[in-house]
Amino acid sequence: MRKPIIAGNWKMNNDIFETEKLMNTLLPLVAGAEAEVVFCPTYLGLQKAVEMAKDSNVGIGAQNMHFEKNGAFTGEISGEMLQAIGVNYVLIGHSERREYFNETDEAVNKKAIKALALGITPIVCCGETLEERESGKAEAKVVAQMEAGLKGIGDITKVVVAYEPIWAIGTGKTASKEEANEACGWVRQTIAKMFGEDAAQKVRIQYGGSVNPENIKDLMAMDNIDGALVGGAALKPTFSEIVKF
Ligand code: 13P
Repeated sequence: MRKPIIAGNWKMNNDIFETEKLMNTLLPLVAGAEAEVVFCPTYLGLQKAVEMAKDSNVGIGAQNMHFEKNGAFTGEISGEMLQAIGVNYVLIGHSERREYFNETDEAVNKKAIKALALGITPIVCCGETLEERESGKAEAKVVAQMEAGLKGIGDITKVVVAYEPIWAIGTGKTASKEEANEACGWVRQTIAKMFGEDAAQKVRIQYGGSVNPENIKDLMAMDNIDGALVGGAALKPTFSEIVKF
């Protein structure tokens, strides 16, 4: 049985004061959720969020990390630095990072391996563009991202994968539950080929892209969907309705 995991990706929203305010609003609302709950504020909000979430059911995640420990990488934050403040999840290879910051599958792979080595749960993202979906290339894209991104991972069962079709992110256009489930199935089959069926059955796969309190129940009822990675709807008090689907 896979424990559902619902994560809020706050993206580049909320300064430190707004982060504190949102934490104060959400923490009591999400208490008692059966799903594992994760909030991913900006780097600046992480330490405060970790402190505030200390005695709660909420885990705190970063939105990115560098794979090197330290050095001349201006503007970057390492996994060790995240570990030092008690961050226990990290989003890796979000489509916005791939698109705007040239993040490659190779970098995704290095980051995922490093996060695991540090005991931080990587949430590895994948997903196709609208053009790829419309030209029948969605499966090939997702499989290729997984093969390259998860290559050489030690304990795959500790990895969380988020399937987020780019055309569904921030557009209000959710993939149908069947489309989402099929794509999460491509992820699971790829993991099964790489790491064996037993391991693949243990990996949690999230769907992301315009998830909201209205569609979460239907998505979570699907075989291959074990959670959600939520953007816009994670910034509102009603995020609690998503985690308590
Ligand atoms: P939205 O929920 O705003 O579509 O964003 C999804 C996402 O990118 C989460 O990482």
